[in-house]
Amino acid sequence: MRVKVAPGSARPELVELGWRQFLVKVHNQAGTTSVLRGTSSQARRLAGAMPDEVRNLWLDLQMFDSQPLTRTLSGLALEYRIVQLYSRDPGQREATVTFDVGQGTQDLGYRSEVPILFTIRPAQSVPWRVRDETGAPTVAAFVIRDAQGRVYPSRAKRLAPDFAFHPQVYRADGEVVKLPAGKYTVEYWRGPESVTKTQPLTVVEPAGSASQNGGPAQGASFQIERWIDPAKFGWWSGDHHIHAAGCAHYMNPTEGVLPADMVRHTLGEDLKVGATLTWGPAFDTQKRFFTSRDDLVSRPPYLLHYDVEVSGFGSHQSGHLVLLRLKEQIYPGGSSYEHWPTLCLNTLRWAKRQGAVCGPAHSGFGLEVNSSELPNYVVPPFNGIGANEYIVDVTHEVPGPDGTPVRAVDFISTVDTPYVWELNIWYHTLNVGFRTRISGETDFPCVYGERVGLGRSYVKLDGKLDYADWCEGIRRGRNYVGDGRSHLLDFAVNDVRMGENGSELRLSAAGRVKVHVRAAALLDEKPNPERGRRRYEEQPYWDIERARIGDMRAVPVELVVNGYPVAKQSLVADGALRDLMFEATIERSGWLAVRILPSSHTNPVWALVAGKPVRASRRSADWCLKGVEQCWSQKERFIKRDELEQAKTDYEHARRTYQRLISESEVE
Ligand SMILES: [Zn+2]
Ligand SMILES: [Zn+2]
Repeated sequence: MRVKVAPGSARPELVELGWRQFLVKVHNQAGTTSVLRGTSSQARRLAGAMPDEVRNLWLDLQMFDSQPLTRTLSGLALEYRIVQLYSRDPGQREATVTFDVGQGTQDLGYRSEVPILFTIRPAQSVPWRVRDETGAPTVAAFVIRDAQGRVYPSRAKRLAPDFAFHPQVYRADGEVVKLPAGKYTVEYWRGPESVTKTQPLTVVEPAGSASQNGGPAQGASFQIERWIDPAKFGWWSGDHHIHAAGCAHYMNPTEGVLPADMVRHTLGEDLKVGATLTWGPAFDTQKRFFTSRDDLVSRPPYLLHYDVEVSGFGSHQSGHLVLLRLKEQIYPGGSSYEHWPTLCLNTLRWAKRQGAVCGPAHSGFGLEVNSSELPNYVVPPFNGIGANEYIVDVTHEVPGPDGTPVRAVDFISTVDTPYVWELNIWYHTLNVGFRTRISGETDFPCVYGERVGLGRSYVKLDGKLDYADWCEGIRRGRNYVGDGRSHLLDFAVNDVRMGENGSELRLSAAGRVKVHVRAAALLDEKPNPERGRRRYEEQPYWDIERARIGDMRAVPVELVVNGYPVAKQSLVADGALRDLMFEATIERSGWLAVRILPSSHTNPVWALVAGKPVRASRRSADWCLKGVEQCWSQKERFIKRDELEQAKTDYEHARRTYQRLISESEVE
């Protein structure tokens, strides 16, 4: 069967950045009931296109096949279908549109190759006004939809700074958004500390303007509404794991995107710190943006800073590593990524020597367990890319910048993997006496392509925001993590504040302590049961909706001691900051933290009784030791021969350490 195509009598007129419908008259002599597919060689996606194709790929095409039409042809001898055409450009452009009803049915003869010359009317230029809660000009996220639900600009025709893999675009005050005349709905927000709002937008052609010339249209104004501002109290948001290349990004027409594109997104999500990590894909292109200083596109207090994730090279099989605050970007002995160590600890030795702040990425991967309990004592497979070799590395100290020993691992990444998996290993290593902190990340656009800053850290700083200090705040655990929909400020035990003076409260004897935290959360008044009832292994892994108590507008704030909740209070999730007080009995040296699970979590404050180290759980120490064995069984094969002896020594050190910790543990 052949499908022949010929243009009809309709005027081939389109509109820039908008859709036009055309009737397709179908003479169906064969009575086929297949799907009629329309295609055009000008309508391919721009993401992934070669640079010299970009100009030619100006068209987007969709068949309209929802109600009242059926998806397939009816089989009648004569019927009409609707094809929708979208143009990226104004003026005159040529395209070939072909139709088929399945593989091999395109007419290969001359008739399917008839080009059509379209005349494309220009869109209107809509001045965009975006003001923050203080009235200052700002950048925000916008999802622009028409009545049919189509988003603008068309995702297939997007290149940076607009990303094809999510619906929103980021626009600044004073910019112009081009849209054809029509009615739209605009959903907009500016990070999780803002309230998502929706407003209608009507774009009209200015009276008397000739259709040839898209003159200035009436402007559109957007007022950002904020429900909380932790920065006002010195808590600075950041996402230590975003990428400008790889995963959902394209490798063509460019190898990833530029700093200016990334900062538009971090500004639009009100993310004060964006750590853009160069990794395997496009490494040699993206490495050019590393300077060890804030990128010049930064607009304080919005900082964009390039660092590295060891992923797609080196020790990535033993677990990906986030390396922040690097002075040198590339491991000695080469200028790219092929020569890096296969043992994470060897990379950490180099990074810590230069004062970097380091931790495993997307920690839960490889630590999957068939349990929703936290903590649990199931030994996970250690066969993935998360905090796997961490179980070894956490037992090590390595020389710091001045040669004195420092912790090899500073933090565990959280918020972008299921919380049971990522927090379980953290809790166990805290219980045996290690002092790793947590930091929040998104791994954009790999784990999440929705937006940057989906997972974040809020770091308390005394002075003005500075990237090195912000990373230092994570190293010292002067931060809480979360989805930005709940906040845990000023966590303190007695008079010791989280992240200050080593986070250490010294008690002469067992006894009661007072815990203080300022907490706020925001839930919609109406529950979203679909999101709220998802299993913890389903995205989004951290989400305030899952913390909702029943159908109430409230979430539980829990005090955790040595991994177990010991007190709980209900917090009204109306956005207001409230002072909460807890009391707890500290029987032996241990750690305390506050959480709204799975939406936010503080770092620990340690309570040391009579100067004794934390040996809070023999079962935790035993779990760690089994973890080392399991990890070795999975990772040995990835270690290069010239690192194998070192790896054996380093793993053996971890074994001996946990054996000692088991014998020193005070309680089961
Ligand atoms: Zn990774
Ligand atoms: Zn990554």
